[in-house]
Amino acid sequence: MNNISDIWFSFSHIYRIIMKKHNFSAGPSILPRVAVENAAQAVLDLNGIGLSILEISHRTKDFEEVLDEAVALFRELLHIPEGYSVLFLGGGASMQFCMVPFNLLERKAGYINTGVWARKALKEAKLFGEVETVASSEDRNFSYIPKGFAIPADLDYLHITTNNTIFGTEYKTDLDSPVTLVADMSSDILSRPVDVSKYGLIYGGAQKNLGPAGVTFVIVRNDILGKVSRAIPTMLDYRTHVEGGSMFNTPPVFPIYVVRETLRWLKSIGGVPAIQKLNEEKAALLYDEIDRNSMFTGTAAREDRSLMNVCFVYSDAHKDLEPTAFLDFAKERGMVGVKGHRLVGGFRASLYNAMPKESVQALVDCMQEFEKLYI
Ligand SMILES: *Cc1c(COP(=O)(O)O)cnc(C)c1O
Repeated sequence: MNNISDIWFSFSHIYRIIMKKHNFSAGPSILPRVAVENAAQAVLDLNGIGLSILEISHRTKDFEEVLDEAVALFRELLHIPEGYSVLFLGGGASMQFCMVPFNLLERKAGYINTGVWARKALKEAKLFGEVETVASSEDRNFSYIPKGFAIPADLDYLHITTNNTIFGTEYKTDLDSPVTLVADMSSDILSRPVDVSKYGLIYGGAQKNLGPAGVTFVIVRNDILGKVSRAIPTMLDYRTHVEGGSMFNTPPVFPIYVVRETLRWLKSIGGVPAIQKLNEEKAALLYDEIDRNSMFTGTAAREDRSLMNVCFVYSDAHKDLEPTAFLDFAKERGMVGVKGHRLVGGFRASLYNAMPKESVQALVDCMQEFEKLYI
């Protein structure tokens, strides 16, 4: 055991050989290979200090550097303006469903109901005050993003879900809102440029586009905090974490390490504009095939199609076919995670930032081969 790098080399070699699946999982999901490799190395030995990232105090210089760099990269890549804090917390995006109204809802909040996650967020807010559903796409099984709705000026905030992971719809632009805008960006953070100055608060779980499960990011404009009259438990008060620099208690050390590695990778390939271009190419490749292929049809309204989660079902002519027919066919060709959510049925391919274009091409090839069996 005295030569860690030898062991590391053989480990990473085996790892490359066995990891050859095309991973379309909706979350937790594919990460950049280099981030996974560096994280694996840091589990064995962090920066050559003779200790694992899993074994060190969060108060060490080695970890504080990781956290500081993760925050700095987040700020740089998303152009986060002065006056905003970047936090890394526990509890998942679901904890934010309650932290947001706990900290921001005094009298009345507005929610746009675009799917399961939006509805869950709305449900929590009702525990804290009046909630108005400003717009909803529930009438057509959340297959579109509502448009042209008026935002009441008397709301404490308006909550949106920018990408609806389950239904495959996505806002294409930042909403103009006369009231504080709060956004769940769990599944499209850093996939496209965002004008952060239009938002009061942005949050999300890391496990879709940023890192492993276990850490949640929050970007909050400091001046919206401290306005509600209720008492807030210390751990649920954003101000605790703003003042403590996400170090009030032990933060999720290892997930933050992986986030730092993912952000380094994103910067190295050209940042958000570069990944947006790639994401658009990947999504176009798959949506074009769905539109061309006689076996399949997309479920989301064309103008609202998500770049991240592509949902499709069998076309009418083949709707009696069992979903497993295509799923098994795809699985034999190394595709995993293609099963649709039960609320939509059919298929869902998630094309997060780390998904290589080659994997999307492999899925398209697979769909074309599948079609040949039936014509
Ligand atoms: C996955 C997801 C969530 C839930 O995240 P957790 O970290 O599991 O709580 C919330 N919102 C959206 C949009 C998601 O995709």
